[in-house]
Amino acid sequence: MTWRGFLLLFLLVASPVEAQVCGGASAIVMSDGRALGHLPYGDVASRDLVAAPPGVAILGTCRLRPEAMAALQRLLAAAAGDPKVEGRLYALSCHRSIESQEATFCKPRAEASDGARSISVAPPGHSEHGTGYALDFTVRPADGCRDAEACMAARPAFRWLRENAPHFGFELSFPPGNVQHVKWEPWHWRWVGASANEPGAARARFIFARARREFPADPAIR
Ligand SMILES: [Zn+2]
Repeated sequence: MTWRGFLLLFLLVASPVEAQVCGGASAIVMSDGRALGHLPYGDVASRDLVAAPPGVAILGTCRLRPEAMAALQRLLAAAAGDPKVEGRLYALSCHRSIESQEATFCKPRAEASDGARSISVAPPGHSEHGTGYALDFTVRPADGCRDAEACMAARPAFRWLRENAPHFGFELSFPPGNVQHVKWEPWHWRWVGASANEPGAARARFIFARARREFPADPAIR
């Protein structure tokens, strides 16, 4: 190959493209398909989601794929019965459609309910929340912690999640110092099934195959 050919190949591989979001502002989508470090994900069909029963979510509705919802309910029941949690775990944000992800992503930081979280929101079409397998946890009472990572991660409820969530099929998508260069999110977990044989696990593992191969979770489910 000539040097011109190399140059052309380099430009094709390395050039970012712009995706229009936020009414004209743009997010850079790299040639590997990632945007701001986040991998591309579609949006699960609404008919493939189930709504959480009362007591699962702290705000509004929480919808997930049925197998993830069942696992979440088992996890929350176990947490509620364990005094080591020191508080109560809830789902804060579950499935987010492309539209709601764009609204969350584009919300000006000053107006965001929590600036610490808004800077970690993935661009629309690039959120694990679109799959119906991912959710953010929170704990109440809030204890003044809000969503600051280190403070949240130090809380007993989140230490409990690190020890126990994998037993229910959940792994931490964005651990501290992740090579994906996505902000550490102690509250954000994705369901992949506690074992490969669990109903629904194969589909979840297919959807997250690239993420799990290139940017392993921690704790992760092997
Ligand atoms: Zn999240």
